[in-house]
Amino acid sequence: MQKPKSPDPAKLSPGDKTVAKPARAKPATVRKPQARRVKIPYSPEEIHEIFRRFSVQRPEPKGELEHVNPFTLVVAVALSAQATDSGVNKATRALFAIADTPEKMLALGEDRVRDLIKTIGLYRNKAKNVIALSRKLVEDFGGEVPRTREELVTLPGVGRKTANVVMSMAFGVPTLAVDTHVFRIGNRLRIAPGKTPDEVEAAFLKIIPDEYLFHAHHWLILHGRYCCKARKPECERCVIADICKSPEKTCDVPAALVELPGQVV
Ligand code: SF4
Repeated sequence: MQKPKSPDPAKLSPGDKTVAKPARAKPATVRKPQARRVKIPYSPEEIHEIFRRFSVQRPEPKGELEHVNPFTLVVAVALSAQATDSGVNKATRALFAIADTPEKMLALGEDRVRDLIKTIGLYRNKAKNVIALSRKLVEDFGGEVPRTREELVTLPGVGRKTANVVMSMAFGVPTLAVDTHVFRIGNRLRIAPGKTPDEVEAAFLKIIPDEYLFHAHHWLILHGRYCCKARKPECERCVIADICKSPEKTCDVPAALVELPGQVV
């Protein structure tokens, strides 16, 4: 049903009282497009300081998944879904010693791959995917791991998160892969809130200063894994405790800002 039209004020006589009620019209602001931006309780200076402190703690952060080339990185990241990095490393040491290229992986075959990774959760499906992605790499990409997200996500078992990790770690493209730790930190600190990993990724990409983007993924993962832990954040050990606006925070005093020793997996 069409909305009734308002009378045109220009056509009404001066004595017509309805002319005196333009206030019934909707305020102009209502017609503005709704900005989807979520207001976060941090100033740009505070965000810069958070990442500066992370950079002092871990000047050269590294991923903890062992790999020897882009292919083994793709396989390791694909195997890491719902598994710990150390659990994946234990299995892939033997696997990659035998098969570090898609051709060798195909030659090894699904049964042997399944056997070698059976300590990892969902190993049956993952073995299928490792063989399928190896086949696709050989058939469609000349045995090379592609460099773009669009191509990477066509590989079986490779989603946006895996593609982002591979682009960043293998090819040096600054991206932000959102895993469980990054997702939790974005929401817990209310610094990059979102209901889905894609929303959190977009929110983080909007605020992370350019000079910190390349390492941000690892800083956030390591901060989540070792300090801002899922069950109970260790705020007394946290270097951003004075800036953090999390309702779960238990301490306001930041830990000493020093470079941490190298990571041990
Ligand atoms: S202060 Fe606590 S809640 Fe905030 S980032 Fe640090 S560990 Fe996490």
